[in-house]
Amino acid sequence: MTAFSSRIGRRAEITGMLHSPASTQAWASCLIGRHGTVTAELRNGILALLALDGAAHEMPGNMKRWAVHWDDLLIQDDETPPLQPCVGYRLGLSDRQGKAVQHAVRTEHEIGLCGAAVRPLPTLGWSLPFLPTTTRACPACVRLVESGAEEGMAPAAPPLPSR
Ligand SMILES: [Zn+2]
Repeated sequence: MTAFSSRIGRRAEITGMLHSPASTQAWASCLIGRHGTVTAELRNGILALLALDGAAHEMPGNMKRWAVHWDDLLIQDDETPPLQPCVGYRLGLSDRQGKAVQHAVRTEHEIGLCGAAVRPLPTLGWSLPFLPTTTRACPACVRLVESGAEEGMAPAAPPLPSR
């Protein structure tokens, strides 16, 4: 699961209408205070598609699903937030002296932030996020993540591949 998809299935209440699309805002008075379930994400995760609770005949505009900005939603069951302190990096492995080391890997890349050649997880592929807190985390990757590499700074130059 990615950081974003973990929000799908969450319960939410519509608490405002400042950021949502105009087509949703037009129904603000009917929508604010309603509860529902996040069923999908729209526009690269900027918006939630919320399926409202209630019977079909009492849906605003006969629409059950509404595109709502996350800032207009109160996510309700977040007492167990997912352990994803560095959203945007997936987990890749390299073998260092027989031990699998966990590296932070940018989406669409197959090289760790530290420059190490990495491979996806044997069964899970690239689906897990990088966690700097794990004992197997690559120290160089942790340093780069924490120094703000995730804010668009270029990662350290990778070493040339050995010949
Ligand atoms: Zn690394």
